[in-house]
Amino acid sequence: MIVVMKIGSPEAEISRVTDELSTWGLTPEKIVGKHKVVIGLVGETADLDPLQIQEFSPWIEQVLRVEQPYKRASRQYRHGEASEVVVNTPEGDVVFGENQPLVVVAGPCSVENEEMIIETAKRVRAAGARFLRGGAYKPRTSPYAFQGHGESALELLATASKASGLGIITEVMDAADLDIIAEVADVIQVGARNMQNFSLLKKVGAQPKPVLLKRGMAATIEDWLMAAEYILASGNSNVILCERGIRTFDRQYTRNTLDLSAIPVLRNLTHLPIMIDPSHGTGWSSYVPSMGKAAIAAGCDSLMIEVHPTPSKALSDGPQSITPEAFDELMQELSVVGKAMGRWQQPEVAVV
Ligand code: PEP
Ligand code: MN
Repeated sequence: MIVVMKIGSPEAEISRVTDELSTWGLTPEKIVGKHKVVIGLVGETADLDPLQIQEFSPWIEQVLRVEQPYKRASRQYRHGEASEVVVNTPEGDVVFGENQPLVVVAGPCSVENEEMIIETAKRVRAAGARFLRGGAYKPRTSPYAFQGHGESALELLATASKASGLGIITEVMDAADLDIIAEVADVIQVGARNMQNFSLLKKVGAQPKPVLLKRGMAATIEDWLMAAEYILASGNSNVILCERGIRTFDRQYTRNTLDLSAIPVLRNLTHLPIMIDPSHGTGWSSYVPSMGKAAIAAGCDSLMIEVHPTPSKALSDGPQSITPEAFDELMQELSVVGKAMGRWQQPEVAVV
């Protein structure tokens, strides 16, 4: 349920309504939007009468029930307003959101060694990326495949961040590693295979770093939003959703089926920012540019692209990784669509 306060409601009145609702055994959450304040109510609201709540204050505009099973993740919970995820990086705040310039995240699948991660970081930074991605802990189908360098790779990510100024996005697989990952990561990634690892979701929800939640490969949109709800319900409101392809019947020509329809569907259902990963989504470097452009045209807020200095030698996901040169070209192509959509950060004009 949400209580929508009228524009200009006095602070004291908002607090009074919130306090009153707390005495009813509910946990009111004050959500400050651009124009209005909304008080979100999650809990046993089925027996509550909206009209009775409406009578608390003449400053209450409306009391509405949130019909979806995901409450905090629903668009309605914020009365239709998009949320923004602000991430602190060495070069300042980067904002993910519907009304913000597109944020590009790039880097290798795995952090392999110091030279490659620093080179990749500098190259993608020069081309306009704002975050470096790279796995220290890798979820691999085979236990015999490269599992990531773990803690030492985290140190390399920290070095690459210092060398490039980029923010860091890296995956947590085991809650036991969360603290050391959070020391280095500006955004903590929960991978597709862990999207419904509910104990992990609760733990990333209970720490303050923003979370990137990838869609499980067989997850419905509702499963995915319910997974986001776990993080939000645990106290972390900074969640970014990442579509990375779902499993369908064709594995011969594409690794996954990139569900671009998720963009308008999510936009309708949730206030959370939307990222698209065309690298895992297609599995082939040659398909990344078309799907990246299509994703921007469909209205995504962010893109994640795998970039490796020598994809043929990559320890994981080489076939879907593009070279830094190809990334330069791709950014040029993306800028055309990004500008058409009004979502491309214009270079700062030098003051003469
Ligand atoms: C990754 O980002 O490298 C990764 C393992 O992604 P996903 O969880 O989407 O497979
Ligand atoms: Mn990968």
